[in-house]
Amino acid sequence: MAQQISIGIAGAGIGGLAAAALLAGEGHRVTLFDQFEAAGPVGSGLMLQETGLAVLGAMGLRAQTEALGTPIARLHGISVDTGRAVLDVRYGALREGLAGLGIQRAALFGLLQEAAVTAGARLVPATRMISADAGAGTLTDAGGGLHGPYDLVIDALGVRSPLSSAPREELAYGALWATLPWPATSAFDRAALEQRYEAARKMAGVMPSGRAAAGAPDSLTYFWSIRADQYEAFRATPLSHWKDAACHLWPETEALLHQITDHDQLTFARYRHRTHPRAVEGRLVHIGDAWHAASPQLGQGANMALLDAYALAHALHGEARIAAALRRFLKIRAGHVRLYQLMTWAFTPVYQSDGALTPWLRDRLAAPMLRLWPAPPLLAGLVAGGFGAPLKKMALKAEC
Ligand SMILES: Cc1cc2nc3c(=O)[nH]c(=O)nc-3n(C[C@H](O)[C@H](O)[C@H](O)COP(=O)(O)OP(=O)(O)OC[C@H]3O[C@@H](n4cnc5c(N)ncnc54)[C@H](O)[C@@H]3O)c2cc1C
Repeated sequence: MAQQISIGIAGAGIGGLAAAALLAGEGHRVTLFDQFEAAGPVGSGLMLQETGLAVLGAMGLRAQTEALGTPIARLHGISVDTGRAVLDVRYGALREGLAGLGIQRAALFGLLQEAAVTAGARLVPATRMISADAGAGTLTDAGGGLHGPYDLVIDALGVRSPLSSAPREELAYGALWATLPWPATSAFDRAALEQRYEAARKMAGVMPSGRAAAGAPDSLTYFWSIRADQYEAFRATPLSHWKDAACHLWPETEALLHQITDHDQLTFARYRHRTHPRAVEGRLVHIGDAWHAASPQLGQGANMALLDAYALAHALHGEARIAAALRRFLKIRAGHVRLYQLMTWAFTPVYQSDGALTPWLRDRLAAPMLRLWPAPPLLAGLVAGGFGAPLKKMALKAEC
């Protein structure tokens, strides 16, 4: 190791925890802040791709992660207007054995938090950061407390980071999410993320999401697309109104919907799309959603946060000059980030928007095209996160 430096990380989410584990593991002095009283994840299930899994593998966490997750071999979405498949991605079309992994956010968080603390990172909860001084290397919390100076400050505060830029506009849509036990009898494929759409205004999905702990019952994550400006109306009307609509779109979900008896069981997440123009500013570097937020249509955000964390540790390894390491970090990550931000921006309205033309074209054109070569391996490669060869740039290998 060239030199041990002091690092202040704002945000103990997926990117912040992974960075803390990797950098403390390299011997750096890492302090990690989060606003939670006791740090914990917000939200429901998420899908890891081979990119994120490879990073977890390099951290020695892959087997534990896989033990808590469910392999997902296929993404399969049907338009109820035409009965056709308008999303059909089979990972195996790219490589045999390739798959995503559905996992509860809390399970992944638990593994990363343990890794960070074991590596020697100091976790400071109940500290809401409001600003950073990129030149001085300091962070300021909401109570006026000044933290640092650090040799390096990492902004891992997520999609609404006050240290990053706000998007020009919010996305109109978000989704309601709930993690539920698998019903005793169920029509769902345990190895597929399934979705149903009506135009692009309505969408429901079911994703296998592993288990809370080894030996615990299997879970799935149910999600329902909703416009942000309709969320208050959803909360103000009896749950049965929403359940009727959800059941009408996808009758097979009835047994799942029975498990939802209170509005509070559904967590609302509003999506944002924004790429902060300067990922590196002096001694401050933005990673994860604080750098590049997007809707989860392609299921990349957590994987990108893991890639960012790994790239940062990789760039700092053996490099005494922090500025040079940050330039290297940018070189490793910027192309992949640009590509996936563009793809997610292009795909989002196909599945979540008010327009009629895009879903009409989707239903009539996408359906037959999905089956034509080279669409199957291309789509699998896109969803697996491999476009732009992000692993190769860090000498990481996919295991599948
Ligand atoms: C509903 C939903 C479904 C998703 N599904 C997927 C999926 O299937 N696959 C995928 O790869 N990605 C998915 N994503 C995206 C993924 O969750 C994010 O991209 C990922 O969590 C980003 O990691 P991060 O570390 O940048 O931010 P986060 O994980 O959001 O962590 C940010 C942390 O900062 C803390 N924080 C925030 N503000 C402050 C503050 N001011 N002061 C102190 N602490 C603060 C928060 O408490 C949190 O712990 C989904 C996102 C949503 C909302």
